[in-house]
Amino acid sequence: MTDSGAFSDLLAANNEYRRTFTDSGLTGRAGRGLAVITCMDSRIDPLALLGLQRGDAKILRNAGARVTGDVLRTLVLAVYLLGVDRVLVMPHTDCRMASATDSDVHELIAKEHGIDTRSLEFRTVPDQDAALRRDLVRIRTSPYLPPDLAVGGAIYNVHTGGLIPVEV
Ligand SMILES: [Zn+2]
Repeated sequence: MTDSGAFSDLLAANNEYRRTFTDSGLTGRAGRGLAVITCMDSRIDPLALLGLQRGDAKILRNAGARVTGDVLRTLVLAVYLLGVDRVLVMPHTDCRMASATDSDVHELIAKEHGIDTRSLEFRTVPDQDAALRRDLVRIRTSPYLPPDLAVGGAIYNVHTGGLIPVEV
């Protein structure tokens, strides 16, 4: 690593971790056939909140839990190569991505850091419910994914730990 000082706490923690680590013998397949698309928000512990263990699910995270081209690419691989047969899209309450528009974010970064980000599409979500429904349709209608793939949506409440399923 180029700047090990910035990561020394992590390397120390890993020394502890590997001391008691035992190889689970798991493969890279999703043990419970699940892929979860959620936000990068650090309050979300996807495995714990869904009662999952290491090896059970593919967890895909990005800003706002959006179904982007890269998420679709990853889902295609997860479905055909890694045993995924159900997909849960799980944005959350109090998401920074749902409290601003792309132009707000461009403006903020320009003002505070002097960087022009206007060539990036942040995919902010002015209407979280509508964005989630659009993203579910995006998976359901992808020509690369099988028609019998189970696709569901739910909003995770970061303050109560509860999941609110979205009916479509
Ligand atoms: Zn978020």
